[in-house]
Amino acid sequence: MDSGSIRRKFLEFFEKKGHTIVPSAPLVLKNDPTLLFTNSGMVQFKDYFLGNAQPKSRRVADTQKCLRVSGKHNDLEEVGIDTYHHTMFEMLGNWSFGDYFKKEAIAWSWELLTEEYKLPKDRLYVTVFEGDAKENLPFDQDAYNFWKEHIAEDHILRGNKKDNFWEMGETGPCGPCSEIHVDLRSEEEVQKLPGKELVNQSHPQVIEIWNNVFMEFNRKADKSLERLPAQHVDTGMGFERLCMAIQKKTSNYDTDVFTPLLSFIGQAAGVTYKDSEKTDIAMRVIADHVRAVAFAIADGQLPSNTGAGYVIRRILRRAVRYGFTFLNFKEPFIYKLVPVLGNQLKDVFPELESQKEYVGKVIFEEETSFLRTLEKGLKRLDAIQAELKGQVISGPLAFELYDTFGFPIDLTSLIARERGLSVDEDGFKAEMEKQKSRSKADAAKETGDWITVGTDVKPEFIGYDNLEADVRIVRYRKI
Ligand code: ATP
Ligand code: MG
Ligand code: MG
Ligand code: MG
Repeated sequence: MDSGSIRRKFLEFFEKKGHTIVPSAPLVLKNDPTLLFTNSGMVQFKDYFLGNAQPKSRRVADTQKCLRVSGKHNDLEEVGIDTYHHTMFEMLGNWSFGDYFKKEAIAWSWELLTEEYKLPKDRLYVTVFEGDAKENLPFDQDAYNFWKEHIAEDHILRGNKKDNFWEMGETGPCGPCSEIHVDLRSEEEVQKLPGKELVNQSHPQVIEIWNNVFMEFNRKADKSLERLPAQHVDTGMGFERLCMAIQKKTSNYDTDVFTPLLSFIGQAAGVTYKDSEKTDIAMRVIADHVRAVAFAIADGQLPSNTGAGYVIRRILRRAVRYGFTFLNFKEPFIYKLVPVLGNQLKDVFPELESQKEYVGKVIFEEETSFLRTLEKGLKRLDAIQAELKGQVISGPLAFELYDTFGFPIDLTSLIARERGLSVDEDGFKAEMEKQKSRSKADAAKETGDWITVGTDVKPEFIGYDNLEADVRIVRYRKI
């Protein structure tokens, strides 16, 4: 089954169960001070759980573009190194807003996986919340009992608060959850060690695919839990992982979600995926990161030097450096992947295809600007390493790489790790603070006037003066 059919089947299944299919919300959030990006399917429905708004339909399903690169859910360091965490991924989800609860959610997820997708029952494991004395939360006996109707009891495992109590962020809706894991290892390996031993142990082929959250609480700013006005179901299934399981692969990157990107990258670099671990990681990072960056830009978040924009810039610079160092991409390249991706996803997320030229141009500009300083920065890093006494790159040196060569701190740390070194990140932060107070003092000295734009000037956007600048100076043309 190809990925398009897998996605369609999910939506059709829940439509048949009375759900309204809704579009994905944008990746970028403009109205939620607690989150920078949509990190799960429930984010756009938060107000329904909290009782602040009433949904049009009490049963909803969709596929949601998610980004997990900041805040409580941050997977950036894993991406490309492992084969199942992405920066941007699709989360398939079904919701009940005060309608059905655990019994139906559990029965339907089982039916979909085993009868529609035909995943082998003996390779599935489920987890239920064991309870937490400190928070006064009980063992989820109901979920256990409902699962028992479908699956052998030795495939039902108890999980702790870290894995089985889902929270959106530091505050907000939350509740106990029940996850479904699939064992994709060979028969021979299964004989050696039962899959249940590996659930939640970061094994790339014994992997969590679906989380069923039973929303019952709201985490308040003082950390206490309050009961929500009603009980809800919020589920999220990693689409790329599901494709891996159904297509009988052992890595998300071997599914048709990623193969078009990987072969395009391989051709351009003159390498084949699975040639070597180093080039494989670089190829995976680029294939992953271009999705995050392209969709963020298509959803209105340009790379910049602050906030959400800086997260996007950091992701792109990371990809550029992997390409430069391991795949010999010395010229802008990543922007060329935008049409490949746009075409691949045009039926589900047409926003990229329809803006592919604009998105490609922004990425091209960013790549060009970073490639101007990257090589010099890497040479400087070589020199720093050569003179280094000990294993730690100091705060001021990391700051020099940031300030002069545009190296985000996480990039410097990543390269340092590759070389068996580390970075004094606190020292770096202290340098950043110093710079901030210097520029505040400078800004106070300048008492520039506001420029009055006459009536004969209509602002027409013709570009940014300086893509690096924190505050963008937009150029206007007289017309
Ligand atoms: P993991 O333990 O693998 O990090 P999670 O428990 O953090 O996953 P949830 O918050 O439960 O994930 O999200 C629901 C589903 O979304 C997961 O079961 C998984 O299939 C998928 N998922 C989560 N994070 C990622 C990611 N970074 N890339 C791809 N899929 C993901
Ligand atoms: Mg996670
Ligand atoms: Mg998990
Ligand atoms: Mg989970």
